[in-house]
Amino acid sequence: MLDRLPHLIDPISFADKQRTLQGQIPLTKLSRLADVLLHNNGQVEIDLSFSKEGRLSVVRGTIRANLDLECRTCLEALVLPVDIQVNLAVVKSMEQAERLSGEYEPLMIEDEKIPLHELVEDELLLVLPDFPRHAEECKPYKHSTEEIKPAANNVQQSQSNNPFSVLAKLKNIGD
Ligand SMILES: [Zn+2]
Repeated sequence: MLDRLPHLIDPISFADKQRTLQGQIPLTKLSRLADVLLHNNGQVEIDLSFSKEGRLSVVRGTIRANLDLECRTCLEALVLPVDIQVNLAVVKSMEQAERLSGEYEPLMIEDEKIPLHELVEDELLLVLPDFPRHAEECKPYKHSTEEIKPAANNVQQSQSNNPFSVLAKLKNIGD
């Protein structure tokens, strides 16, 4: 079993010592993320290495999780597998951030120590889609059409697929 993950980390000191953090953070700890999740009973798996790149303190590694979101089209559950490649460089000012090469994202720190789970949460929030929806077609609607307002560009498609419009046509032929 690996060491417990620390609550607070000092990225610059960790980089000096070339520390590695591996382990899991429960999603329940990520309160900002909880607002957009259907369930937060999973874990975020992290594998982060701190090192020096010249004078820069950098953090590299991966953040992985399966996030349970709600599909905005059908309102059913949608599991979004997230696999983030972390490439952060510690900066203390906007000027420093702007001087970074494109290889790194800035990790802005004001105090020496930052909560590890906030770093992880920030990275997850960055990759979260604004409008999560199933990559493949959604399952047939379980709700009545009154409850669902599909996005404008899906309206036409859902109307042409609507079995009731076919029934309506058959009925007209019968008359
Ligand atoms: Zn869907």
